[in-house]
This record gives sequence, structure tokens and C-alpha cells, in this order.
Amino acid sequence: MSTPILEIRNLKKYYKVGPNKKNDLKAVDDVSFTVHKGEIFGIVGESGCGKSTMGKSILRLIEPTEGEVILNGEDLVKLDSAEMREKRKDIQIIFQDPFASLNPRMKVFKIIEEPLINFKIGTKEERRKRVIEVAKQVGLTENHLQRFPHEFSGGQRQRIGIARAIVTNPKVIIADEPVSALDVSIQSQVLNIMKDLNENLGITFIFISHDLNVVHHFCDKIGVMYLGKLVEIAEKNELFNNAKHPYTKALLSALPKSHPKEVKQRTVLKGDVPSPSNPPTGCTFHPRCPNAMESCKTSVPKLSNYNTEHKVSCLLYETVEVVK
Ligand code: SF4
Repeated sequence: MSTPILEIRNLKKYYKVGPNKKNDLKAVDDVSFTVHKGEIFGIVGESGCGKSTMGKSILRLIEPTEGEVILNGEDLVKLDSAEMREKRKDIQIIFQDPFASLNPRMKVFKIIEEPLINFKIGTKEERRKRVIEVAKQVGLTENHLQRFPHEFSGGQRQRIGIARAIVTNPKVIIADEPVSALDVSIQSQVLNIMKDLNENLGITFIFISHDLNVVHHFCDKIGVMYLGKLVEIAEKNELFNNAKHPYTKALLSALPKSHPKEVKQRTVLKGDVPSPSNPPTGCTFHPRCPNAMESCKTSVPKLSNYNTEHKVSCLLYETVEVVK
């Protein structure tokens, strides 16, 4: 893969909770990863694991507590609010719920044109041409542009959301569960549009999803998130064929068999996901982990190289760091 376009370094988003706001709820806890130009990087995890908060923290729609977000060599976290607004031309987001993310009182043309007006891009005529161009790229016609969002199906609304996200020619798009509100039959159409944008326009994607199958279909590389931390990162086939982290293995074991003759043993995890405001000590996965050792209760595993293309955060694969 080519040069890094986005580097997330030690990103944290903590919320103060509890009596006198003394406790930290660690929604995103020291997350680091690199996304290369033209790559589709998947982030997968159960709901509440912090993946959407992480996406919004990267864009500073939520202010991160700490860390760096390096886009093309520039740290977005250090920008003032005016500079950050300007940067959003280059890094856009597609939201999970196309119903909620479109202004119901605006015609589709205005919805897609709005970012161009906000960023003072082009004359009225240039904007008109650009809106028609991106509408076609996502499979909408000129006729669609004169309608209101409520006149469209869920899949078409997500096309409008994608058109609005690409109209400023961004280099990176964060797609936050972009197909999970859609019928399965529509999901692949929307995924194919994004795949075309990746292949034809070179747009880099961070694709956030709870659905391992969708991530496997769409992404080049996958990061697995648990309780605010990335616990494993690998190229998608490596992750599916050679997962190392017990949590990743459990998620994979829950997928349906790809062939009736495939032998598969399901790992059922004990208990529920703990609260991030009161996470377990040591490895936060230890109360549910089928491989937990005594040291897992006190030692925090680091995300380290299993091999050059595969990182894992588990004491089974590293020298331990004991925390008091
Ligand atoms: Fe399981 Fe221990 Fe590895 Fe955590 S560090 S995933 S508890 S084996």
C-alpha cells in the first residue's frame, strides 16, 4: 500500500462521570493506527465499544481528550476551530442514519450544494454542475435533485448522504455504520457505490461497522475494537484466517458457516460487555476471555506486532507490563 494519509496516535476520549465527576469513562482509550492512501480501513466491534466516538473524535465533531490525528502531515487536533472547519473539506463523514442526517425542509439539490456554499467553492453555475456530477456518481438523476428527502427510500437517502460527503472532493471519508439501517438487498448497492468512489476517485475510507461480514466484503484492513481499545489490526484475509486475539476469534466463530461442510466451533463469551466507566483491571477482556490467565487480571497488554502486518494486544503474545 502507498503512503500514509491518516495517522491516529494515542487518541483518547474520556468523559468525567460519577459523583463529583471524578471518574473517567474511557470511551476511546489510547487508540493508534495508520491508514494508507486509497485504503479502506474497517473498524469493527460491538455496539458501545467506542468506534463511533472514535470516528467523531477524528473529525473533532467530538473534541478528543488527548492524542494526534495527522492528516497529510498536519495534526488536526492542534488546529483552531476556523482552521478545522476548513479542513473538513478534506475529511468528511457519512452517518449511520440517512433519515436523521438530511434536512427535511431542503430539496436534495440544496442539501448536496450546501457544503460548497459553506466552503465558498465555485460560482453558482460551477456549483450546479458539480452537484449534478456527484449526483450521477451515486446513481441519482437530475430529476431527483428537485425532490425532498422524505420522497426517497432509505438506500436513496444514503446515496444523497454520500453525494453530500463527496461534493467537496475529500481525501478521506469516515463512514459510520453507513449501511446498518438499510435492508440487506440495498446494502450491497450502497457498498458498491462507495467501492467505486474508492477505486475511481481514490477516496480513502474509514469504515465503522458492527458487522464482520460487511467489513470483510468491503475493507482492505480491519481493526477490532473492544471497550475503547483496538485489540487487533490486520489485513482482512490475515484477520479472518489467522486471528490471534481471543475476542476476534469469538466474533469470527459466531459468523455463519461459509460452506455446509465447514467444521466450526462457536465460542460463546461469558457475560456482557463491562461498563467503560468501570472497566475490569488488567486486560479489560479478562472476565470474558476463554484463555484468561492469572496475570491478565493485573497486566495491561499493549498493541504490538505479531508480524509486520498484524498487530495484537494480548498477553499470550507479548512480554507483560505490570501495572499497580
Ligand atoms: Fe485473554 Fe489475557 Fe489475552 Fe486478555 S491478555 S485477551 S484476558 S489471554
